[in-house]
Amino acid sequence: MLYIPTRGVQDDAVMACELCICFFNWAGHGGGLQQIQADTGWRLCAADDMEYRADIGVFGGSGFYSFLEDVEEITVPTPYGAPSDKIALARVGDKRVAFLPRHGKDHRYPPHRIPYRANLYAMKELGVKQIIAPTASGSLQPHIKPGDFVVCDQFVDRTWGREDTFFEGPVVRHVSAAYPYCHRLRKLAVETGREQGITIHDGGTVVVIQGPRFSTKAESRWFSSMGWEVINMTQYPEVILARELGMCYVNIALITDYDAGLEGRDDIAPVTEGEVFRVFKENNDKVRNLIMAMIEKMDVNVECDCCK
Ligand SMILES: [Zn+2]
Repeated sequence: MLYIPTRGVQDDAVMACELCICFFNWAGHGGGLQQIQADTGWRLCAADDMEYRADIGVFGGSGFYSFLEDVEEITVPTPYGAPSDKIALARVGDKRVAFLPRHGKDHRYPPHRIPYRANLYAMKELGVKQIIAPTASGSLQPHIKPGDFVVCDQFVDRTWGREDTFFEGPVVRHVSAAYPYCHRLRKLAVETGREQGITIHDGGTVVVIQGPRFSTKAESRWFSSMGWEVINMTQYPEVILARELGMCYVNIALITDYDAGLEGRDDIAPVTEGEVFRVFKENNDKVRNLIMAMIEKMDVNVECDCCK
């Protein structure tokens, strides 16, 4: 199933919408929308086609490649290329949820090559207004331990060369990044986590590194000494692209390791890829249950500051 965003399309239009100019040449199919459907076999979904809509989006991270049951998988093309994978749509109670593993189901995209803009745009196109984004992350502070969860409230961007904005002109906007995460969803995540007996830290600064390598000892010492709590490779630009599109976004960082180790603790070995996946797998059910419980409580009609 291929889904074409058709918002604002006239039957004889050359473009789908202001953001789709570079992607669709409707005129090439002569006979309008029906002809495109016949030529390509693609389904044409108008924005009001409820069958392929979602209220809530979930991005899966390392070790978290499936989430929902009884899904319908759809391909959502975007002006920014293809998202990391097909998007799985399913109902959770009375809510419609879209799930997308940000590295792809087979983990083929390293953090710096993830098509972040396509992933966020595809969610927006489906109608998603709120995003829950679990990530495998390292701890930079002794009191935040492997197996703990952190609901981050700030980031420090140490990445480079990533396509990190939708505003490349002629439309230019400068969004505020002072409070990049949705305060409402953060509160919900912390409350729900505590109800479930999870050790969950309310707030924390995540340092986003370029990867795919892990930190040196010196880098890790620097980040820790600044008082930052969490380290990760994918929070930037994901969170800020969500903000640019007016979507609420919450990160749930599952701590899998102590980055390059801890000062004065020779017994704690630097992180390895195997350790990240092992700890995430061990805690997969906790992450899944937390997100499900959050979805049950979420109000899909809420008006939030993030949308302004
Ligand atoms: Zn919000």
